[in-house]
Parts: sequence; C-alpha cells; structure tokens
Amino acid sequence: MTVVTIDKDICTGCQECTKVCPVFAIEGNPHEPQTIVEDRCVMCGQCVQKCKSYISSVDHGIELYQKKRAERNLPAAVTEPLFAAHNVSHIQEVIDVLDRKAKFTMVQAAPAVRVALAEDFGFPLGSLTPGKMAAAFRKIGFSRVYDTDFSADLTIMEEGTELVQRVTKGGTLPMFTSCCPAWVRYLEVNHPNLTKHLSTCKSPQQMLGPVFKTYGAKLNKVAAKDVFSVSVMPCTCKEFECSRPEMKGSGERDVDVVLTTRELGYLIKHYGIDFANLSEEPFDPPLGEYTGAGVIFGVTGGVMEAALRTGYKLITGKELKDIDILPVRGNEGFRKAEVQVGDLTLKVGIVTNLKNIDPIMEQLEAGTLDCHFVEVMTCPEGCISGGGQPKLISDKDIPEAYGQRRKGLYDCDKGLPLRKSHENPDIKKIYDDFLKEPCGEKSHHLLHTTYKGCEGGHH
Ligand code: SF4
Ligand code: SF4
Repeated sequence: MTVVTIDKDICTGCQECTKVCPVFAIEGNPHEPQTIVEDRCVMCGQCVQKCKSYISSVDHGIELYQKKRAERNLPAAVTEPLFAAHNVSHIQEVIDVLDRKAKFTMVQAAPAVRVALAEDFGFPLGSLTPGKMAAAFRKIGFSRVYDTDFSADLTIMEEGTELVQRVTKGGTLPMFTSCCPAWVRYLEVNHPNLTKHLSTCKSPQQMLGPVFKTYGAKLNKVAAKDVFSVSVMPCTCKEFECSRPEMKGSGERDVDVVLTTRELGYLIKHYGIDFANLSEEPFDPPLGEYTGAGVIFGVTGGVMEAALRTGYKLITGKELKDIDILPVRGNEGFRKAEVQVGDLTLKVGIVTNLKNIDPIMEQLEAGTLDCHFVEVMTCPEGCISGGGQPKLISDKDIPEAYGQRRKGLYDCDKGLPLRKSHENPDIKKIYDDFLKEPCGEKSHHLLHTTYKGCEGGHH
C-alpha cells in the first residue's frame, strides 16, 4: 500500500527529502522528480515534513490548485500550499461516515497531537491544547472522545509486565519497544532474525482499537460492527500499522481510519469550527482518563521513563520516589542509563532518529548490546517531530518547535495529579472488569501481536 508518495508534477528535484530519509529510500537525479522505493520506505513522513516544492493558488492559479487538491481527496476548506511529498489522505472517509451518522464514532488522539495541533491555528509553536482538541472533536460530531494517552498507560502495564517476565524468567533480552510502526517495519524488512527482541505489545493506537470494539462497544451498548474507530496521530506510518492484517483483535478491523495532526486541522476547518475560541472540555471517561506517564509517550525517552515508573513498582512492590528520571531525557541519538530497581541494576538505552540505528543493530547482532530494555523512535525527537505533525515551513523553526513541544508534554506530566500508569483508576477498572491481568489470556489476544521472522509470526 502507498502511504507516502511524491507528486512528480510538483517535485523540482531539490533532493532536500533525501537528506532526511533515514533509510535511503528516495531515488532520482538532481533537478528531476524523485521516487520513493516502497520496499525500503518505512513511511515515517520525514520527507513530507522537509519537502520544499509546492503549488499554491496564488503562485500557480486556482484551477491547477483545485485539481491537485481533488486528486488528493482533500476538502475545499484546505487552502494552504500542497507539497510534492505527501501522505495519502483518508479524511474523506471520515467526513462521509460523520455526515451519514450511520456509525457510532469513537476517536482517539496521540499524546503528541495536542502539543502541535494549535500551531495550524496561529498559536505559538508547541502550544498545549488538550481541552480545545477534545472540544473540537465533540463539535465535529464524534460520538465518544477518548484518548490514546489512556492506552499509553495500558501499554505500560503490559510492556512493564512483559519486561519483568523476560528479566526474571530468562526471556529474550534486550527487549525493544514496539510502539513505533516505522521502527517495527525497519526491523522486519532488514533484520527479521532480530524481531524476537521486539516487545509483543501492540502500540497504544492498536491497543485502544480492539478495546473500542469490545469493552468500549459494551460500555456504550453498541455492536462492534457499528463502531467506527478513528485515530489522530502525529505519524504517517500509523495508517500502515492499522491496515496490517493481524490488527483485527476485536474480530473487525480495530482502527478504521488514521488521520494525521495536519488532517485533524483540515477537519476542524471543514466543519467551520473556530478552534482558537473553543472552551476547554474533558475527554470522555473511562477510556479518556490518563496519567503523566501516558502523556510523555510523545517524546523520545518518554516510553522508557513511563515504563520505569511502573516497572519499579512491579519488581520491588514499592513506589518509585523520584519519578523524574532525568538520565533518559534529552535528544542525543543514543543514550544509555542505569536505574537501580531493588537488587537489579536495570540497563536501558534510548535511540531517537532511525539514522542512528546501525551501530545498535551491529551490537545486537554481535550479542554485545549491554541493555535490558531499549526504546527506539524513528523520528528525530520522537513523535513530537512525526511526519504527520503541522509542517514547519522554515527550517529555523525546527529547534524551537521541537523544544516547545517537548516542554509542553513534560510540563503537562508534571502538572497532573497522577503520573504513573498503574495509578490510573480506569486502568485498574479495565483490568478488574474486563482484561483481568496484564499479559493474561485476554490481553494476549487483544493487546499483543507477532512479527515477521518470529516464531508464530506471519510472513
Ligand atoms: S516516508 Fe520516511 S522512509 Fe519513506 S521515503 Fe519518506 S523519509 Fe524515507
Ligand atoms: S517516532 Fe512516532 S511519529 Fe515517528 S514514525 Fe515512530 S511512531 Fe510515528
């Protein structure tokens, strides 16, 4: 399937995109249209962020602009320049379902969305607007406004438990995070012999998908087949992830459509919503409750920090006192830290930007990577810098935008009353009422997966 593509009519062959592609998937001669080699592409959308070739109605005339907008299936409310490198949009499918009111629509939005969306409405870079985003979802007409931050907490319960089991029962180590689908695809394509190192946990998006169509459907007294599940992600690769054939834990396709943060901006404009003047609203309980641990998933090192906050409790039975785990924060391409967890010195690593992965893969192949647990995010600073985020037209805005988005998520975490996933009362409830226990039978069926190259994995 094509997720990210380059429009030959618009591409000028400046090759800016080739500089940021972490897997050298873009080919072409200078000053000629470039092509993406789909077999190599991990669909991260960094080329979409970087592309400088565009058409606009002002520079190229309204007719050509409208033709291109129609080719991309974008609504008439979109008036901004259209760039050569772009992701294939599914916004029209969402509009059709919302307008027909034929389905019970449930929406989730990833942590990094709320810290960037407002940039497309003239707010300062990195403005944090979860309340306005929730209000916008309601005005758009979604039946339930849930939150990926909830399932980030759920992921930590499952992944933390899996890590403890691997460490104490002699499972494959180091364990690598599996929430970045571009990283998972990279490993499956390039090192299928190493996919046993991936956590079997689905990503937060793909955990909430089957939860929507089972537990969520039951709570709302609707049939799974009547639920239309939409997720809003900072990520272009999430559309690929949700279309993987194994992502049908509920019996239906778990996530029906993924929109990027940019496309949510288009949807808000399409419905004529005055985003800037929206009053703050909460997410819907119970699948919209979250802790600070869920929030920091959007930034490099965040999954690791969240996992350590809960892993400490799982291993020692005690609460970690100082939960700001500073050694895992930062934006260096690879950083390592040691955290004392009872008698165990837990060695962790964080990789951000897939461009930094080669030495780690060499060490993993050679058996010399001295870590228990490694987080990998494909994008330069994790999902806050994802390919589906508002486009930063000027490169000089990039450090400021990433810095402010990162700060927004850490500030949000700091300001929340609950900051550890296992303290989320609605996480406790979903285990009591439905899942029973982390890594139990039901979790195994709904929340875990297999990979190419693994025993029992698909090919
Ligand atoms: S989507 Fe990512 S991997 Fe694919 S061509 Fe663009 S930058 Fe490269
Ligand atoms: S780092 Fe985040 S935004 Fe980037 S490809 Fe991975 S999951 Fe998507």
